[in-house]
Amino acid sequence: MSEYPHIFKPLDLKFTQLKNRVLMGSMHTGLEEAKNGYERMAVYFKARAEGGVGLMVTGGVAPNFAGRVSPFASQLSFPWQVKHHRIVTSAVHQVDGAKICMQILHSGRYGYHPLCVSASRLQSPISPFKPWALTSLGIKKTIFDFANCARLAKTAGYDGVEIMGSEGYLINQFIAQRTNRRTDKYGGAFENRIRLALEIVKAVRKKTGSDFIIIFRLSMLDLVEGGSDWEEVVALAKALEAAGVNIINTGIGWHEARIPTIATMVPRAAFSWVTEKLKPEVSVPLITTNRINTPAVAEEIIANGQADMVSMARPFLADPDFMNKAQLGKTDYINTCISCNQACLDHVFENKIASCLVNPRACHETEFKQVKKSIAKNIAVVGAGPAGLSFAIEAKSLGHDVVIFERYSEIGGQFNIAKEIPGKEEFHETIRYFKTQLKALEIDLKLNTEADETVLNEFDEVIIAAGVRPRIPEIEGIQSDIVLTYQDVLLHKMPVGQSVALIGAGGIGFDAAEYLAHDPRHLPTSLDKQGFYEQWGIDTDYTNRGAIMDKNVSEPHREIYLLQRKTAKFGKDLGKTTGWIHRQSLKDKGIKMLGGVTYEKITEQGLRISINEKSQLLKVDTVVLCAGQLSNNQLYQRLESAGKIVHIIGGAKLAVEIDAKRAIDDGVRLAQII
Ligand code: FAD
Ligand code: NAP
Ligand code: SF4
Repeated sequence: MSEYPHIFKPLDLKFTQLKNRVLMGSMHTGLEEAKNGYERMAVYFKARAEGGVGLMVTGGVAPNFAGRVSPFASQLSFPWQVKHHRIVTSAVHQVDGAKICMQILHSGRYGYHPLCVSASRLQSPISPFKPWALTSLGIKKTIFDFANCARLAKTAGYDGVEIMGSEGYLINQFIAQRTNRRTDKYGGAFENRIRLALEIVKAVRKKTGSDFIIIFRLSMLDLVEGGSDWEEVVALAKALEAAGVNIINTGIGWHEARIPTIATMVPRAAFSWVTEKLKPEVSVPLITTNRINTPAVAEEIIANGQADMVSMARPFLADPDFMNKAQLGKTDYINTCISCNQACLDHVFENKIASCLVNPRACHETEFKQVKKSIAKNIAVVGAGPAGLSFAIEAKSLGHDVVIFERYSEIGGQFNIAKEIPGKEEFHETIRYFKTQLKALEIDLKLNTEADETVLNEFDEVIIAAGVRPRIPEIEGIQSDIVLTYQDVLLHKMPVGQSVALIGAGGIGFDAAEYLAHDPRHLPTSLDKQGFYEQWGIDTDYTNRGAIMDKNVSEPHREIYLLQRKTAKFGKDLGKTTGWIHRQSLKDKGIKMLGGVTYEKITEQGLRISINEKSQLLKVDTVVLCAGQLSNNQLYQRLESAGKIVHIIGGAKLAVEIDAKRAIDDGVRLAQII
């Protein structure tokens, strides 16, 4: 019997059956608008269907022009567009029992164009465009467009549609007082505000018949002022059930909410309580969502009756075979999504095609081959960080003989430092995945072994993946005993005083500040859901509209200064979708951020700096260097000069802006061509 019997139980929707309780949630990937995008989406979705997921939902497709997320975003309104979608649905339906729904998304005032519309003419704080208030005729037309879009989706072969009613998009904008100031029959009283949602559902059902899945994504937690209250959520869910939806999916947080909902510091399944709260109120199946990334968490939710289905989206970018591996009990083989957003959401916000930090193949499936190499080479890899490990695993799977040399006693490289940061515990999972793969592929791993020319000369080719070392800036007194590097603090756990100055405010400076703000004896863990709710002001009693309440901000464990030379905004180069969370977290902890700094000297009294030519002494016990990094490329240069065939990847190749996304991508791509 499967280790996870509940998630593998089919779900009966009367006219059709889902083979298991897991939904691959909607994700915009950028393929929708790319050249050969539908062909590429067909490969992408088929791979996930083959991986065993019960039901998939596409990225959002607009029902009309005004509803597009951006001017060139996808829309389904005309019969000639159907053939593109058929490429996707027919690929998916080649897999036994696989099902796919298309999400209909009208972005409302989140539309990134001047023709966007909403319930009222109120601009969102995160959009540069002020929406037009829909007229009565405009509403009628919008309902028609939803129904038309659903009908075309059915013609295109989709098994159903998901109507996007959450995350602050158009339908949600009608439902909430926050954005609906209308005085006609679509505004004012609650019954009026939900009218649009219900009329859309009824119109879709009428146009698509009774044998078509309709999922409604209902905002169960708006997490904004003026959002729905609990009674309204329940009343809407009941009305949707009566209107004929087959499944209700959970929506958490408007895009403009200032509460993290999917980032890595959000505890796993932190929001499933709200789906559970709705369970006794309706009989239609409920899907729960957000930060569910392992089969064990999904199983627990279904086994405890918190929901009928679990939605995971990013975990299927990280590993298309998630479900098959879970069914075979090969949980440790799952490449777990670490919720970093770096290659998925951040890419989409930067108008790039999405991918996955831990799996560069995601959405780029057609660029990679799995053909065994005709000539097996004998390859040495120097460094067991993300770059070296991903190279080694890919190269061995393709048929090469690989030996890894790692100077430390553990694999993982800088991930062993990253995982120490409160809120980055998921990084353990990537190291676990790498370990499992090394073992399964029987890759020869030589730990505690510094590689040098003597040992490397025996190999056909050498891969230098030796990573980076901290930059030591030239500041008078830098050799002082009060100076430590971020590695000394985070990896070697050297003692740090009660007042600290951090030199450098990049990703590592921010992470070190977060770490040092806590008492090392009581570091928070991602298991602490209550602490998360209190830190971000989430009202789990649901006594307030939008389920928000005052934050409970704890005093920092130390006095901390975070310093940078530039005058730019702090953390401006952090992730597009997560930078604000890190900034807010440090601000709430009272960390002092000083920009435009010149470092003058370090003495036993502390760090002397000047800002705008005004000198001041920061009386700190410890100075921690987070001033960027330098490549470990000396060995590469020596081998190259000696005429050896040698390649260099990851931080060793280029230290500037090196992150795990580039390190892993470098490793996998080099192995493909070597
Ligand atoms: P490394 O990870 O540095 O690995 C190099 C390995 O080579 C090391 O294990 C080293 O011991 C070994 N080595 C070196 N020389 C030799 C030798 N001669 N013989 C044998 N072994 C050798 N990145 C992100 O993308 N997202 C994040 O959120 C993130 N957070 C971070 C937080 C912190 C606190 C830190 C420190 C880093 C973080 N990073 C993050 C950065 C990320 O970890 C690095 O970019 C990535 O690890 C670089 O991978 P690499 O394989 O090139 O090098
Ligand atoms: P970084 O982002 O390049 O930041 C280096 C910091 O050091 C900057 O604030 C820089 O600011 C300062 N600095 C540079 N040279 C200096 C010098 N000579 N003297 C004094 N200060 C100097 O590098 P990092 O913080 O080491 O991070 C490395 C990489 O890891 C990043 O590129 C990032 O992608 C990745 N990372 C990502 C995350 C994440 O959450 N996504 C977290 C951690 C790390 P000034 O020049 O203005 O002083
Ligand atoms: Fe998950 Fe990060 Fe991959 Fe996105 S990029 S799917 S968040 S691991």
